[in-house]
Amino acid sequence: MTDSGILVILSGPSGSGKDTVLNKFLDGRNDAKVSVSMTTRAKREDEVDGVNYYFVSREYFEKKLSEDKMLEYAEYAGNLYGTPKAPVDEMLAEGKAVILKIEIQGADKIRKLYPDVVSIFLMPPSATVLENRLRGRNSEDEETINHRLVIAKEEMRRAADYDYVVINDTVENAAAGIETIINAERRKTFRNKNIISEVINNV
Ligand code: 5GP
Repeated sequence: MTDSGILVILSGPSGSGKDTVLNKFLDGRNDAKVSVSMTTRAKREDEVDGVNYYFVSREYFEKKLSEDKMLEYAEYAGNLYGTPKAPVDEMLAEGKAVILKIEIQGADKIRKLYPDVVSIFLMPPSATVLENRLRGRNSEDEETINHRLVIAKEEMRRAADYDYVVINDTVENAAAGIETIINAERRKTFRNKNIISEVINNV
């Protein structure tokens, strides 16, 4: 266990497969948790309130912002998305790797707040796969899909600003990529200073 938890950003365009890959990575692993965001977007049929997101009204979201309860937030495709602050602090204090599944504006804000954050960009293996995944969801109309594709292109141009890039060619490969990164980050010296000095002091 490191001195404290690790904050991890996972970004990637809509349709890059973040949820599937994260579910695979988290399976059986209890030292990592995904932060549940708040959004004003409408719930999709397969989504569960409090699990995938906290689905709230714009009014409620803005109230939480004014109360300073959000770590970051961004407007994306006409809706607000944000990270509630308290649960992240609690999970970090428990030593967890806390994964923020957020878009690039949010990632920019978090980098400023937490310079030690580890950022990962999940890339689809090809444009065709990206488009097929977006269409396969069957939950959005043509206009929304096209809008998301335009945003996706802009987002992928920012991939180089991230510490790591993981290609989602298969769920297994991508989940293994995330696992490798988090396991290595846990072993960075600066995250283990307290443990090192504690052992030395007890010799
Ligand atoms: P979707 O509507 O497809 O679930 O999410 C749209 C985008 O919003 C995705 O890129 C997702 O990662 C991002 N997102 C989800 N939650 C948050 C959040 O709390 N903050 C920010 N900045 N982006 C988020």
